[in-house]
Amino acid sequence: MTPDLFDIAVVGGGAVGCSVAYHAAKRGASVALFEADRIASGASGAAAGMLNAQAESHSPGPMLDLMLESRKMHETFSGELREHSGLDPEYIRAGTLRVATDEAFAGKLESTYEWQRREGLSAEWLDADDTRELGPGLSPATLAGLYFPEEGQINSPRLVKALALAAANMGAEILECASVSEFLMDGDRLAGLRSVLGDFHAGAVVLAGGAASGSLASKLGVEIPVFPVKGEILSVEARHPTPISANIWSDACYLVPKRDGRIVIGATEETGVYDRRPTLGGVARLSGAAARLVPEVSGLPFSSAWGGLRPGTPDGMPILGAADEWGNLFIATGHYRNGVLLAPITGEIISALALGEEPKMDVSPFSPGRLREKAKR
Ligand SMILES: Cc1cc2nc3c(=O)[nH]c(=O)nc-3n(C[C@H](O)[C@H](O)[C@H](O)COP(=O)(O)OP(=O)(O)OC[C@H]3O[C@@H](n4cnc5c(N)ncnc54)[C@H](O)[C@@H]3O)c2cc1C
Repeated sequence: MTPDLFDIAVVGGGAVGCSVAYHAAKRGASVALFEADRIASGASGAAAGMLNAQAESHSPGPMLDLMLESRKMHETFSGELREHSGLDPEYIRAGTLRVATDEAFAGKLESTYEWQRREGLSAEWLDADDTRELGPGLSPATLAGLYFPEEGQINSPRLVKALALAAANMGAEILECASVSEFLMDGDRLAGLRSVLGDFHAGAVVLAGGAASGSLASKLGVEIPVFPVKGEILSVEARHPTPISANIWSDACYLVPKRDGRIVIGATEETGVYDRRPTLGGVARLSGAAARLVPEVSGLPFSSAWGGLRPGTPDGMPILGAADEWGNLFIATGHYRNGVLLAPITGEIISALALGEEPKMDVSPFSPGRLREKAKR
C-alpha cells in the first residue's frame, strides 16, 4: 500500500537517483522515485561505464578521495545488486591503460604517474613495448603508457536498472513517466512534490535530475549552476578474442571492451548543447581517433551511436548536500564525467543525510553553497 507520507521523494531515475533510492530503502526508509521518462533514459544510460578514479584525477584532494571510495564500493556493489535484483551489472576490474602517441602527452602522463606514486596509489609506467604487450592491438605509433590496475568498468544501463529493481524489491516505489513539475511547500520546508501522477508528500526531497537539475531547483528559488556537456559515443562488434582487455584511453578517445562482445568508443564533449542525438561529425571524429589508436577496430562492424548530456558544474565537482534555502531539500547532481563511478558513494551519503544520519564521508567540499561563495570572490 502506498504510504500517505514517504520518508524520501527522489527526483530523477539515473545512476544517482536510483542509488539514493536503493541506499535509502536499504536503510529501511519508505521511498518514492520519480522519473520523467524511463529508468536510465538520461546520461546514465549513455555512459561508457568506466570506473576511473585515478585516470580521471588531476591532483590529490577531496574529489580524488570521493572517487577512490566509490571505486572501492563498486568492487562488491555489483554482487550485492545481483543478489537483490537478479540483474548483473557486469563489473569488470581489468584496469585502465592511458596511451601516449606523442611526447607532449607522454609528459603529462609521466607527471600524473609521479604525483600518484607519491600519494601511494598503484600506477605503472610502461615503455612502448610493455604498453603494446598490455594492449596487443595498439598502433605502432605507441610511445608510452600509464596503467592503473585497480580501475574497472561496468554496464551502466544495467547498473541503473539493477539499482531500481533492487530498490523496488526493498519496497521503494519506482515511478516512470512521472515528470515532476512543482514542489509542495510548507513554511521553510518542503512538504512533497507534484508530478503528472498527482501530489506526493515526503519528509525529505532529493534532487537528482542530472543536467535538468538547475531548472528544477530554480522552481524553489535555489541556484544550482549545472549545465549540459553533450557526449557522443558509439560501439562496434568485436571479434573474439577482442584486440584489447583493459579500458584504453589516449588523449583523443577511449575504447571499453564490454562483456557482451562490443567495444564502446567515446566520447565527444560539447558544453551547452541540449540536443543529445549523435552527429555524423562526432561519429567520424571518434572512429578516426579509435582507428589511429587500435587500427584493427576500423574493420569491425559498426553497431550503434548515441549521445547523452553530462551534468557539468563550474569547478568540475559534484554538488552534494543540503540546500541552505530549505530544511529538507538535498541536492545530488553535477557528477559530470564520473556519475557512474560516483553513484555508490553518492547514494550512501545522500540517503544518510536525508534521513538525518551522519554520512560516512565529509561532504562539505561538495556543498551546494560553495559555488555561490566562489562566484562572489
Ligand atoms: C557519452 C558519455 C559517456 C560517459 N561515460 C562515463 C563513464 O565512463 N564513467 C562515468 O562514471 N561516467 C560517465 N559519464 C557521465 C555519467 O553518465 C553522468 O555523470 C551520470 O550519468 C549522471 O547521472 P545522473 O543520475 O545525475 O543523471 P541522469 O542519468 O541524466 O539522470 C537524471 C534523470 O532525471 C530525469 N529528470 C529530469 N527532470 C526530471 C523531472 N522534472 N521529473 C522527473 N525526472 C526528471 C531525467 O529524465 C533523467 O533520467 C558519461 C556520460 C556521457 C554522456
